[in-house]
Amino acid sequence: MNNFFHHKARKRFGQNFLVDANIIERIVRAIAPKAAQRLVEIGPGQGALTELLLQHCPTLTAVELDRELIPMLEFKFRQYPQLNIIQQDALKFDFTHLAEKEQPLRIVGNLPYNISTPLLFHLLKFRGQIRDMHFMLQKELVDRLSAIPGSKSYGRLSVMAQYYCRVQGLFPVPPQSFHPAPKVESAIVRLEPYTILPYAAKDEKLLAQIVNVVFQQRRKTLRNALKPLYPELDPSHLPMAGERRPQTLSVQEFVQLADFCSTHVSAEPSAAVNDNNNTG
Ligand code: SAM
Repeated sequence: MNNFFHHKARKRFGQNFLVDANIIERIVRAIAPKAAQRLVEIGPGQGALTELLLQHCPTLTAVELDRELIPMLEFKFRQYPQLNIIQQDALKFDFTHLAEKEQPLRIVGNLPYNISTPLLFHLLKFRGQIRDMHFMLQKELVDRLSAIPGSKSYGRLSVMAQYYCRVQGLFPVPPQSFHPAPKVESAIVRLEPYTILPYAAKDEKLLAQIVNVVFQQRRKTLRNALKPLYPELDPSHLPMAGERRPQTLSVQEFVQLADFCSTHVSAEPSAAVNDNNNTG
């Protein structure tokens, strides 16, 4: 690369650039991009993944926040006229217009760890236009996304991601595959939004609210964890035992619980509940 474009990694943009050719190849093999597909890369950085992705699929849109990297990317990939580099914050980006009816988006990225969770929730809004997503994330986050009920990592993120998507943790990536090396282990995850939800809740907002509230008090029993939302609830009417812990409920059971609350509980959920966007 021309010295003119020398770039110092910026911590505030979560810049840990991939430098391990074997890992880059393994990621692209897992994605298996094909020509004519609609590929979108979030945070191309210095183009480590972009380069190999373009060899398989020259139609690619890259969304990068750091404006200093744009001239470098444009120069490096000048022989790819179908590469569309957009300087924008992916958290605010409207992905709708990139998709075509016959070609749902395939989204990929070695994501900045500080924005991974809000970005996942942002992307889930466009799930109808997304075929799949492959991301490098902190391994701990991949464990949470793909966790099974009853496990230590199972929580709000597992339930909401698995409600909308088939989630698969693929493989770990060690810190030395990056420059600068992050302090934590990383891993690759695949999320495939369902075209038809296996268990559809009557009221998705209520489902999200219930999941959020009960996991804020994961050590309590379900009946007690629901109290902030439904102080008057008679636990003997719940569709599952009120003595269970929230982290033992499957996605299907959370949907049953939300459907029960939407039809059997007369009062609106208590407004006193802190429905913040926590990361659990
Ligand atoms: N893909 C490159 C690689 O694997 O070497 C870079 C990965 S680096 C972990 C994350 C990249 O995302 C950086 O290039 C950073 O500038 C970019 N980025 C950070 N915040 C972003 C945002 N909100 N929207 C789009 N890109 C962002």
